[in-house]
Amino acid sequence: MKKHNYSAGPCILPQEVFEKSAAAILDFNNSGLSILEISHRSKDFVAVMEEARALVLELLGLQGKGYQALFMHGGASLEFLMVPYNLMKQNGKAAYLDTGTWANNAIKEARFFGEPMVVASSKASNYTFIPKDFAIPVDDDYFHCTSNNTIFGTQMKSFPETAVPMVCDMSSDIFSRTIDFSKFGLIYAGAQKNMGPAGATLVVIKEELLGRTGREIPSMLDYQKHIAAESMYNTPSVFPIYASLLTLQWLKGQGGIAGIEKVNEQKAALLYAEIDRNPLFRGTAAVEDRSIMNATFLLNDESHAPLFDSLWKSAGISGLPGHRSVGGYRASMYNALPLESVELLVAVMKELETKI
Ligand SMILES: *Cc1c(COP(=O)(O)O)cnc(C)c1O
Repeated sequence: MKKHNYSAGPCILPQEVFEKSAAAILDFNNSGLSILEISHRSKDFVAVMEEARALVLELLGLQGKGYQALFMHGGASLEFLMVPYNLMKQNGKAAYLDTGTWANNAIKEARFFGEPMVVASSKASNYTFIPKDFAIPVDDDYFHCTSNNTIFGTQMKSFPETAVPMVCDMSSDIFSRTIDFSKFGLIYAGAQKNMGPAGATLVVIKEELLGRTGREIPSMLDYQKHIAAESMYNTPSVFPIYASLLTLQWLKGQGGIAGIEKVNEQKAALLYAEIDRNPLFRGTAAVEDRSIMNATFLLNDESHAPLFDSLWKSAGISGLPGHRSVGGYRASMYNALPLESVELLVAVMKELETKI
């Protein structure tokens, strides 16, 4: 029986994506070949790549605005270093907002290239909130932030107005809510949170920002080389990109980002209402910064954990334990998680209350 999958990533994808991907492994486009054995230079796969890159820009509302979409390797973690490599000038400076583990990892990598300045941090409170009052120096090469903190369950509800290019790690909430994406110079995201299987990484970049550092960049780390090669500088991750395209097509069928945002808000509202109502639980993130993708919560009395765990497991729920740095529970409600899965989790939380 299919589980209700709350895993933080890799995570649930639409059932029709699993079905179509499985069919393409056996026979891709009636070609008599598996998607796993075709050339990435074949006409059929070049068409997949072109459609995927165009659909990303279409869904984000960035078509014809000077942006390029790339499918890369290496995960969001490689972008932590590719961003400064490509955007930080020699002896340059950049502003970073420290909102959690991933932001920290991005800061660490930037130190190889110049001076990342942490403009604000919520580390002292174990990242329970998003710092809001900070200034971004106008002579910085860019400002870097993390739109959704997957581990801590916080999400930026607004973004600063700044003259410097804004770079954002959107790994865990891209395509989940309407944002003016044209405010960003560069957006990146590992596929495995809201777009597809692990193995592909999305980078969306305003082309005019490139080629300004005066630094020589090794080919595989150079966004300009990947753009010139139409995202096929070397063999791309064929299958993850195909599955990502299927997810993007599904999303378009849901009414695009605006359509899915309504469902995402409904799911999050339902779960947070129960966390707040049920005397056995409490949320860990500041209410105004709560993520609609990853809800983190604790039992007020840890001794109830064995009973709660057995209830949600026997209800067919999977992937609910929190990250080790927060503890408790984390319900990841990515785009493909149906509302019924959240209704079920809420019912289990209520059931626990009746048994105590
Ligand atoms: C998961 C995650 C990452 C790491 O992604 P990889 O693709 O594994 O490198 C980075 N940032 C955020 C916000 C994430 O959720």
